[in-house]
Amino acid sequence: MARSVGGSHVLVPFPASRDRSLKVGVADRIAGERGGYKATLPAVALDLPDRVVGCVVGLALGDALGAPFEFRRAGDIPQPLPAFTLPWQGLPAGTTTDDTAMARNLVRSLAERDGFDPQDLVARHLAWFKTDPPDVGNLTRRVLGRVAEGRPADEVARELWERRGPEVSAGNGSVMYCAPLGAAFAHRPEELAEAAPRLSALTHYDPRCRTAVLALTVAAGSLVRGEDPGRACSEAVAAALPLDGGEELEYLVQAVGEARRVDGPDQGFCLFAAAVGLQALVRGGPFDRALSRVVALGGDTDTNGAVAGALLGSAVGRSNLPEAWLARLIDRDAIEHEAQGLVPLAARR
Ligand SMILES: [Mg+2]
Repeated sequence: MARSVGGSHVLVPFPASRDRSLKVGVADRIAGERGGYKATLPAVALDLPDRVVGCVVGLALGDALGAPFEFRRAGDIPQPLPAFTLPWQGLPAGTTTDDTAMARNLVRSLAERDGFDPQDLVARHLAWFKTDPPDVGNLTRRVLGRVAEGRPADEVARELWERRGPEVSAGNGSVMYCAPLGAAFAHRPEELAEAAPRLSALTHYDPRCRTAVLALTVAAGSLVRGEDPGRACSEAVAAALPLDGGEELEYLVQAVGEARRVDGPDQGFCLFAAAVGLQALVRGGPFDRALSRVVALGGDTDTNGAVAGALLGSAVGRSNLPEAWLARLIDRDAIEHEAQGLVPLAARR
């Protein structure tokens, strides 16, 4: 969640001398013929329901893992990372935050409405908002506050973006919970290409937020469909490249956490969360180690964890998630049960 974003969202530097021909090589990149991402995650034979549930539960695990370290500098995070042992806002270890709450709203809405119903999703977000949850992102709070007065979410989100300007409007509040949409549309990429930016624009109208949500949902859908992580990342970057922020995202997938740190004043930037997730996917390794590395980067650790957890969980499936973490995840049974409801949608062609 981008609660404390105070820095600029437009100053992410990336090399000016980049190969501009990348823009026209989208199809090739999807096919992996040119600069495709190589996966190091071991190929595991999984069925689709396992990957769908892995997406949703992985998101919750990453959120809960990162929550106690939210907004810390990397150097202030203990190593090895204490996992599922520390409280968050006085709540027990294993508690999830707004990332998971909004993802569960999405999962339940998709399953019960048998597809993407923006009005229903906003109604669920509003009902959650009215319970006075312990954390709500800045922009999400502003939007839902006006929705509570009877205004349409997408209109309000656009107005706020126009009034506040892009410098403070590209937070990760839509990116953090979007992955289940990709799972639901795993076999319907054309419908996903329309739904993903629409979902973002319910709260986060900034074009980079819409690009990041498209990229992440494309990656999640690809993984749920059974593609390998490298291909999923290539598809995500290819979908983003022609759009606002696409080239930044491509650069950040390589640079994030190293040449481009994510624990400074601009933490909470939507492209950081998306890039951290895609980079973790490409780096691979065991789920718990990959996710611990993401959180150790600092910054918006619960959201970065949620995004990476959703992608890694889609890749390894529910059956390969760490049992020790699952045992400590608050509401684990309910989250898992709700995730099963996405399976028919994910299988639909
Ligand atoms: Mg959060």
